[in-house]
Amino acid sequence: MSVHKKSREEIKLMREAGNIVALVHQEMKRIIEPGLSTKDLDEAAFRIIKEHKAVPTFLGYNGFPASICASLNGEVVHGIPSEKTILKEGDIISIDVGATYRGLVGDGAWTYPVGEISDECKMLLETTEKSLFAGIEKMRDGALLEDVSGAIEDVAKSKNLGIVRQYGGHGVGRNMHEEPFVFNYRVGNSFVLKDGYTIAIEPMLNLGGDDVHTLEDDWTVVTNDGKPSAHFEHTVHVTDGEPEILTKLL
Ligand code: MG
Repeated sequence: MSVHKKSREEIKLMREAGNIVALVHQEMKRIIEPGLSTKDLDEAAFRIIKEHKAVPTFLGYNGFPASICASLNGEVVHGIPSEKTILKEGDIISIDVGATYRGLVGDGAWTYPVGEISDECKMLLETTEKSLFAGIEKMRDGALLEDVSGAIEDVAKSKNLGIVRQYGGHGVGRNMHEEPFVFNYRVGNSFVLKDGYTIAIEPMLNLGGDDVHTLEDDWTVVTNDGKPSAHFEHTVHVTDGEPEILTKLL
């Protein structure tokens, strides 16, 4: 497996890319409310990414038609924004954003409540966010990638949540998807993390079972049982000290 360690200059640009992703999320948090369409959210994201002289990484990626993925309730990931998808009170909406700044990518996702949501959806969001940060905490020079996966799995299992098996985190940098792949559960992986690696950690947890499938649009991934799913993601820089989250405001 070839994993590319980033130079100081590349890390600097990834902080810029990550800042733009964080600005988009700041705006999502501000504007999401009942009555808005996911197309409205996509347009807001596109505008912010362009204003900051970056490129929406997802737009055109394997033919994807938008700047964000917007996945509603039982949709897990890769939902296509649409003017027909209108947010309503009690929904949860997962927004995944990529921005490429001077050739380097930032990738980050967050699941937002629309108005007041059920207690079980609150628990799903809180637990998935907690599992992300439990994984990030393990991202240290010399640590096993397996420990990141295990930390996510343990948080998910503590609340009996389903863990999406077919998708996971990934190296990120000059490309959106680089090695290594990061499972969100233990697989017996002996891969060792090193200073200079940049990896997107992205647990996808379900209120119901683990199983998911892709709809006929060839993009939207949904839970088999139709129960809600949440997705939280940060791009993280492994250092010789504390892990550095790159998808945050500068
Ligand atoms: Mg990702």
